[in-house]
Amino acid sequence: MPPAGPGDVTDQAVGHDATLWTNATRCRDCNRCVRSCPVKAVRKEGGQARIGPENCILCGICVRECPQGAKSYRSQVSRVEHLIRTAPLVAASVAPSYMAAFTPAEQRGLPGVLRGLGFGLVAETAVGAEMVARASRGLINQNPTGRFICTACPAVVRYIQRYKPEAVGALFPLASPMTAHARYLKTKYGPQTAVVFIGPCLAKKDEALREECQPSVDAVLTFDELIGWVKSRGLSFVQAEESSFDDFRPTSGRLFPVSGGFAKTAGFSTDRLDWFILTATGPNSVREAVDFVTQAKDPVVMDALVCPGGCLGGVGIPQESSRFALRMAFLNSVGKTTEAEAVKGLEDAKDSDTAASAVAAADLTVHYPPDLKPIEAPDEAHIREVMARTGKYESSDELDCGACGYNTCREKAIAVIAGMAEIDMCIPFMRRSAELKTDAIVHNSPNAIVILDRELKIVHVNKKFCEMFMTSEHCRGRHISYFMDAEPYRRVIEGETARHDAILNLSAYGLVCQQVIYEIGEADSLQLVGILINLTHIKKQEAELDVLRREAIDRAEEVIDRQVEIVQEIVKHLAKSAAETRSTLTRLTDLVERKEDR
Ligand code: SF4
Ligand code: SF4
Ligand code: SF4
Repeated sequence: MPPAGPGDVTDQAVGHDATLWTNATRCRDCNRCVRSCPVKAVRKEGGQARIGPENCILCGICVRECPQGAKSYRSQVSRVEHLIRTAPLVAASVAPSYMAAFTPAEQRGLPGVLRGLGFGLVAETAVGAEMVARASRGLINQNPTGRFICTACPAVVRYIQRYKPEAVGALFPLASPMTAHARYLKTKYGPQTAVVFIGPCLAKKDEALREECQPSVDAVLTFDELIGWVKSRGLSFVQAEESSFDDFRPTSGRLFPVSGGFAKTAGFSTDRLDWFILTATGPNSVREAVDFVTQAKDPVVMDALVCPGGCLGGVGIPQESSRFALRMAFLNSVGKTTEAEAVKGLEDAKDSDTAASAVAAADLTVHYPPDLKPIEAPDEAHIREVMARTGKYESSDELDCGACGYNTCREKAIAVIAGMAEIDMCIPFMRRSAELKTDAIVHNSPNAIVILDRELKIVHVNKKFCEMFMTSEHCRGRHISYFMDAEPYRRVIEGETARHDAILNLSAYGLVCQQVIYEIGEADSLQLVGILINLTHIKKQEAELDVLRREAIDRAEEVIDRQVEIVQEIVKHLAKSAAETRSTLTRLTDLVERKEDR
């Protein structure tokens, strides 16, 4: 069950009427849904996986497979609540796989819980399975040489309509047990009766809407949706009062969801060695089975269900235990319930019973038209041109590795042309492109780069390293100590320091470098990267600048000393001249005074 499961997204919230979609915010572009989709209905757009509704058969495999829980399907809980408020009678048609979805204690409370939710009638879809099985047996007996595909599975029907239209004629022209049961209930309880199917199946949501299946059920809930709804109402299956289903109690019809169930219900041999009735479950097996029936020469009846192991593997059933454990628990429950119930089954119904006449009156026919929307096959030149864009020029270039989600490079190229896939989904091509870009960056780096293994032996050197250390790429395998001190590398590899960053004087090479060392990779693939930024030129320029600076300072000091000397000389002369002037003036003053005295 995906975290973004049913019930938490409504039609209004997603703003479209698709049954199944991808939550863009959760999709991590891992291609798992592309890989697992049996009909390649997942379209990649801008790194997001989107479901193409016209091609999707609603098998639900991508819902189970998506590791991010990014696939959500339409919840119809609010529609059912609306029906309960407005319809004169709402009947629950519960698929037989409830015996796998719930524990025996929960099964006993199930009818009571459904009545508590507002259902006026709680019946088992297995009654519809018995009606269909009986009609199928009649058809087979009328056409003993026919080749038939008998299926209760709308995903198988949809697969045939869309992808194998030539096999549509082999489909029994009969309704599924779900639709047959709905028609029977509407015949018996009145056409205004709203019927809600509750089961494990996503594809039933689509079947209920298909034109050729009308009239059918009015809504479809998965068991997961029911469980969520019951929880939200504060109800409990275990604590509910034990009660029985209404209407007929089915018997072998409860086996329909498992392989061989149809044959058993229709009264045919279920011996696996019987050549006439074959069973196919799981998408690959169904594909082969459909091809087989269309080409078969001998009479054959193929019972086909798309989910692995049958409907017990449906997406709407909680998958808490293994498929085999689920099947065993289911068969055990069916056996015990059928044995314990001393209630009349459909097979024992007398024609005079009103119920039996409703069965007889219900129209079980459905004519499945082929879906003739063309699936265009691109021409060879176009396929080759697309393959060439991911470096596939010859058949030896086609790895067919499946990493893109497609089985072969050719299939992927066809999907690109159909707009379903993107060129960059080819993982080997993208990795090689990234490697080439990285190689180019490393190769043309202005710094020397050396990559060492755990033993400090050279794994890779770039062009600049070869230039600076006067070596060639053939130095691979040499210990780093051949070129420089290995100690800083040892300290990083032994975890003494996460990163080394220091200036290194390599006088033997006339180099001064800034050396940066760090680890890349993990555990066994751990490597060391050494980057040597050549500072020799800068250091030389710095030294020359130093000399110039010192010379300039010396010169300036000389000039200043000279200036000081000159100033001192001037001061000395000025002092001497001032003294002489003073003595002359003193003498003149004396002479003048003497003359006046006389
Ligand atoms: S539901 Fe099935 S057919 Fe549809 S996209 Fe998912 S895997 Fe494909
Ligand atoms: S196998 Fe059953 S549950 Fe799965 S898609 Fe078919 S009908 Fe639905
Ligand atoms: S080589 Fe690329 S295109 Fe071919 S199968 Fe692998 S991932 Fe897909």
